[in-house]
Amino acid sequence: MTASPTKRTSAAQTSSSKPSASTATGSENPQVRRRAGATSRTNRSGRSDANAATGPYVLAVANQKGGVAKTTTVASLGAAFAEMGKRVLLIDLDAQACLTFSLGVDPDTVAVSINEVLIGQAGIRDAIVECADGVHLVPSVIDLAGAEAQLLGRPGREFVLRTILEEVESDYDIVLLDCSPSLGVLTLAALTAARGLLIPMPCEMLSHRGVGQLLDTVRDVTRLLNPKLEVIGVLPTLFDGRSAHSQAVLADVGERYGLPVIEPPIPKTIRFAEAPAVGRSILTTSKSSKGARAYRAAAKSLAGRIWGA
Ligand code: ADP
Ligand code: MG
Repeated sequence: MTASPTKRTSAAQTSSSKPSASTATGSENPQVRRRAGATSRTNRSGRSDANAATGPYVLAVANQKGGVAKTTTVASLGAAFAEMGKRVLLIDLDAQACLTFSLGVDPDTVAVSINEVLIGQAGIRDAIVECADGVHLVPSVIDLAGAEAQLLGRPGREFVLRTILEEVESDYDIVLLDCSPSLGVLTLAALTAARGLLIPMPCEMLSHRGVGQLLDTVRDVTRLLNPKLEVIGVLPTLFDGRSAHSQAVLADVGERYGLPVIEPPIPKTIRFAEAPAVGRSILTTSKSSKGARAYRAAAKSLAGRIWGA
């Protein structure tokens, strides 16, 4: 794909007060503007009763290795939380824009992305898109790397995402952050904004390499930037139940790092490769497949840890 930093002025940008019922999939312009709290259970003061005290649970999904199913996990857990009736916001923090693409939004048609929001050229509400799986998305674009470079020179850059999320804190129950495969400034900003970190880890040989480094970073973030951050757990992904090796890796994962392991492990299945092509998560393309069921069960187990339900 070519870098396309062109900023388009779309109808959505100029009619920001107009709520729309259309969704990303099948909609001509995917940048659907949503008035604050238009679909949320907010009271007159604009705050949700359930979240008046705490705001949404912000969950960073990170692992600096690529291909460990971060993006698949964000899309699938997001759809699962939405099925549970939660108000879900997903944020694509990767310049590859895979989450954006997999939810049916063409990054090249995005008028306002996380890029403009991060560098202060737009508010987060201007970037939110409603997607077909019942989730809202702040899309990425290929030139997000440009935003990362701009942020590098700014004071307080680690706090930028936390500050941005304050604007929508009464609109959502959970915010999932799809991190890029690096421990760069955007991942640090995600860890600084987050309450929890979920680490997807494939049940394959050497997949745990780098986790020590990620946990060192978490320790630094906890000490210097965000004392509230906790590792909610490791999510075993790409699990092959028939393989003794997968079983051995699974058995080793939690013990090695002293971290909770979120159950059940997510099975390796071809269905995951098919879902992004139609802009929906596996929960809608393959409703009762074992992968969809596993993500629903993992979301339930996370919900227990997050909300005690
Ligand atoms: P990351 O965001 O960590 O780079 P992705 O979520 O993009 O990882 O997944 C990498 C690749 O693995 C994608 O092609 C995705 O479709 C595939 N994949 C993810 N989870 C599974 C799974 N459980 N079974 C089979 N393929 C999977
Ligand atoms: Mg990804």
